[in-house]
Amino acid sequence: MIYRQVFDVINIGIVILDTELNVCYWNRWMTQHSGIECEDIIGSPLLEFFPEINTKYLDRSVKAVLRFGNFVFLSQKLHKYLFKFKKDTSGFQHMQQSVTIGPIRGSDNSIDHVFIVVQDVTEMAAYERKLHEMNIKDGLTGIYNRRYLESRLKDEFDRHKRYCHALSIIMFDIDHFKAINDSYGHQYGDIILKKVSSTALNTLRANDMLARYGGEEFCCILPETTISNAMMVAERIRKNVESQENKFSGISGDITAKVTISLGVSELCELTDTHEKLLKKADDALYAAKHTGRNKVVQMNLD
Ligand code: GH3
Ligand code: MG
Ligand code: MG
Repeated sequence: MIYRQVFDVINIGIVILDTELNVCYWNRWMTQHSGIECEDIIGSPLLEFFPEINTKYLDRSVKAVLRFGNFVFLSQKLHKYLFKFKKDTSGFQHMQQSVTIGPIRGSDNSIDHVFIVVQDVTEMAAYERKLHEMNIKDGLTGIYNRRYLESRLKDEFDRHKRYCHALSIIMFDIDHFKAINDSYGHQYGDIILKKVSSTALNTLRANDMLARYGGEEFCCILPETTISNAMMVAERIRKNVESQENKFSGISGDITAKVTISLGVSELCELTDTHEKLLKKADDALYAAKHTGRNKVVQMNLD
């Protein structure tokens, strides 16, 4: 096949299969990424070498191509990859691929083979993932940002209203944080923000969600959690933050300061008709905690 001279130097994978999914052609790119030589795989069923491929899906796609002569596109977003090729870069374990399957017609115009074209889109997928992360996460602490919290809270709110599950939230704010900044500098203040968020994150369960709601104010969504359980979680966060060491070695020596937080807790109930009301109640509870001594947890029920 004279076209090999081109197919073996281009930067995409090309595979040709017969109607029984036996490999008829395997270009150099496929060898480089799979470690399988062309002469070893040609004549063998593709699935013998790649048993992890979703057989049903490949069968269905190839059948559609053979029958209707159309093209099937497997996007990276939906399928991640067709061929499991290791790739230890860009935060992905496997090469992300966009794949096209199409017909090859013989001299009598009937479709007797299909081609598979594989493109490595890992870098692009990593870039998209990074953009998405930047859109939903807070740059300083790495936890979710307020915008994302509000959209998730709305979703959780709708879901929990429909299924009548419990849903609680905790709002908390660092006590006298301005004094920390004023005494030790903004840089130390930033370290405290990171420490407090990681302590809270480590105290929460995997299903809970923590976000930076404002400057030194945080919010947690606790799905399937009643207010009494949320109060226990809030108390645990309070204690863990209070006991944490906040060491920092700066140019003017070591700094260690303790901080405390005040927390407000609210739970979704029949009277809560919007997710904003749930937030407002937790905020009222936080306000009450601030005005009755700080370093404490207060709950607020809807009246
Ligand atoms: P209270 O106990 O009533 O909450 O008092 P407070 O001093 O914590 O509250 P106040 O609202 O007066 O101060 C909040 C401070 O948080 C002021 C602001 O400079 C600081 N802050 C907000 N965002 C950041 C940030 O990203 N980094 C640092 N270092 N400080 C921040
Ligand atoms: Mg504060
Ligand atoms: Mg505040």
